[in-house]
Amino acid sequence: MDKLKKNKFVDNYIENLQRITLKSFEDTSDRDRYKALSDTIMELINEEWRECKRKTRNQRKAYYFSAEFLIGRSLGNNLINLGIYDEVKELLDEIGIDFESIENYEDDAALGNGGLGRLAACFMDSAASQNLNMYGYGVRYREGIFKQSIKNGFQVEQGDSWLKDGDAWSIRVDSDSKIVKFRDQQVKAVPFDMPVLGYQNGVVNTLRLWQSEPFQEFDFQKFNNYEYDQAVSEKNRAEDITRVLYPNDMQRAGKLLRLKQQYFFCSASIQDMVDKYKKYYPEDLKFEDFAKYHIIQLNDTHPIMAIPELIRVLVDENGIFFEDALSIARKVFAFTNHTVLQEALEKWSKDIVQEVSPRCMEIIEKINDKLVKEFKAKGLSEESIDPYRIVRYDQVHMANLAIYVGFSVNGVAEIHTKILKGETFNHWYKCYPEKFNNKTNGITPRRWLVYANRDLSDFISRKLGNEDWKYNLDLLKGLEKYKEDDETLNELWDIKQKKKRDLAKYILDTEGIKIDPESIFDIQVKRIHEYKRQHLNILHVIYLYHKLKANPDMDFYPTTFIFGGKAAPGYFRAKGIIKLINEVARVVNNDSDVNKKMKVVFIQNYRVSYGEKLFPAADISEQISTAGKEASGTGNMKFMLNGALTLGTLDGANIEIYDRAGEENNFRFGATVDELNQIASTYNPVEYYRKDPDISDVVDSLVSGEFNDNDSYMFLDIYNELVNPQGGSRGDQYYLLKDFASYKKAHERINEAYRDKLDWSRKMLINIANAGFFSSDRTILNYADDIWKIDKEDGLK
Ligand SMILES: *Cc1c(COP(=O)(O)O)cnc(C)c1O
Repeated sequence: MDKLKKNKFVDNYIENLQRITLKSFEDTSDRDRYKALSDTIMELINEEWRECKRKTRNQRKAYYFSAEFLIGRSLGNNLINLGIYDEVKELLDEIGIDFESIENYEDDAALGNGGLGRLAACFMDSAASQNLNMYGYGVRYREGIFKQSIKNGFQVEQGDSWLKDGDAWSIRVDSDSKIVKFRDQQVKAVPFDMPVLGYQNGVVNTLRLWQSEPFQEFDFQKFNNYEYDQAVSEKNRAEDITRVLYPNDMQRAGKLLRLKQQYFFCSASIQDMVDKYKKYYPEDLKFEDFAKYHIIQLNDTHPIMAIPELIRVLVDENGIFFEDALSIARKVFAFTNHTVLQEALEKWSKDIVQEVSPRCMEIIEKINDKLVKEFKAKGLSEESIDPYRIVRYDQVHMANLAIYVGFSVNGVAEIHTKILKGETFNHWYKCYPEKFNNKTNGITPRRWLVYANRDLSDFISRKLGNEDWKYNLDLLKGLEKYKEDDETLNELWDIKQKKKRDLAKYILDTEGIKIDPESIFDIQVKRIHEYKRQHLNILHVIYLYHKLKANPDMDFYPTTFIFGGKAAPGYFRAKGIIKLINEVARVVNNDSDVNKKMKVVFIQNYRVSYGEKLFPAADISEQISTAGKEASGTGNMKFMLNGALTLGTLDGANIEIYDRAGEENNFRFGATVDELNQIASTYNPVEYYRKDPDISDVVDSLVSGEFNDNDSYMFLDIYNELVNPQGGSRGDQYYLLKDFASYKKAHERINEAYRDKLDWSRKMLINIANAGFFSSDRTILNYADDIWKIDKEDGLK
């Protein structure tokens, strides 16, 4: 900003501050100051945003349909992308305003559960930064993912009414409202547009989130009591649809309201696209050309109702024949799969789909009939068609619908796509090998490095001599030339130490636990799930505790084990794992025999803005899912980019991390997918329990009372799952005991390796230098080139 603009910025800011409060300047609160600042920034980008919207309105675009966008905070990120972060900080400092406390005032926009929603947010950033025409469509939940606190070791959930102070970063566009019709209800879908800024390139894309409101204005005339009640309940029923995000990660909700949410945003978005097509595209417009201008990427099974909805709108509202509408849909839809866990692949009972939209159910049946005819004509028997059926036993299989109609099906890491082709969707792969492709996930380096780790970011720019790496993360490779330079390696070590001190201070302030910044920071943060195996981690902590307790003088480098993550409120066992971690933490941290050498911390309410403090401070990134279960993971990439070494299995993108940064610079352990497949039918966890005294010792501690907090059945469920299977199950579904010994050894290697600071720093440096591939800029350009066929300029290839 030049001087003139600086003055104007400050004037505007003060004006906005005065407009929103009657207080004198000194008395304004962080809230006032935050609101005035976000207003000032929105005004600053208004013109460019308008211009981008106008310029692209008749260009080919990719539409990213996602039920979740896990955005986090916007203030700092927007300032970074505008290139005015330092200047604004300085300007506010000059007028006596503490920028950091304004920054911390902002609530996360937490409209997602975990990785899938965060991926959508990273893609929005990367598409804008790469000057791609990408438009996001989603749901404006009034309550995002619940806020978590820990009381007496248990997870407690509270609502997340992130809109209570208003919403600084979106604009309501009433004129683009749509009517969404369910079988027994009609509602108004009102769009709220959020600007998505490219990194210092003048591009402003749009994320459009729909809010459900009553179709008719509240009718105050209905003043006899009965009708008044009716009107109130109608209003509530409409608002219910976007009231809250379902907090299930990797689990089907199966609830009518959830399908209504999905259909609601798909219907509004499809109508929006078709309305705009008619309004802005050529006058001699033909619907056959619709696919020339639109491609829809479906983020998992959640937005698949968009398929029948597009066909419905074309057929019922625009006079297109069903066959023609279907062939348009076949050129428009592409599907991303995010999991091989059966419990997450959505199936809906026909009744529910009918209750949401009878016409869409009819259309789904028609598509299914066509599929069956086609496969019969190919010579397949009734029975061999079964796994392909979209409608089967009165259930609608959403993935089958998307794979049959869509022209592209992608997995999110090499190994994941391989499993989709070879197992999960093998039958489909045999019919349509050309549809299947891989797009390894990525993360935006702007939020996860430039913004979250300013010290490391400045270090990199200094070493590379410029900031080009922020646009092209492959340039990080240039850091490798310093791998034998002790001075550089020491600098890197010192930066990590500084970040660890910052985190230690933050944890003391927010959790009330004192940790030693000189200790190894070993961090596992992600949703709590059995397949992610937080319980393997805590069982190993128990093992170490016993070992140290028996021999307090043991040669052991002090380590702080940090956990964080939310459990779905209905996921009993995941909540048990949280309680177990907290009970172990209580015992260990209070035991003066060991607590100089080890500490255990469960940080509350892990979310994007907490992650921004955790990733920069990590020495070890725990990525320990059962091989074959974590489709990609993206937390692993955030850690790597910030110089943490991966302690991980051969799963998801971990494999691609080792490929690039070298196994010798990380800590790989555990069985491979092939090994697990081979033993699947014969695996007996009880054998491991019997043969390995370390294993029996830690497993027994689950039911010995040691960590039970006066309820001796507290961890019986976890114990039973491991070695006392109930109801015909084999036990230890996720192979904790199988991998325990290997995990233990990997930890020993870490504890040894950390003592050589120069060598550890070299490993850090090599990891950072090879993290370029994991930029979501690379991922989004792969989508644009291979699937969307979208170009940077006008979108047309
Ligand atoms: C990146 C991220 C995730 C995904 O983490 P995984 O380790 O890949 O499961 C989940 N939640 C938040 C807040 C994140 O930032």
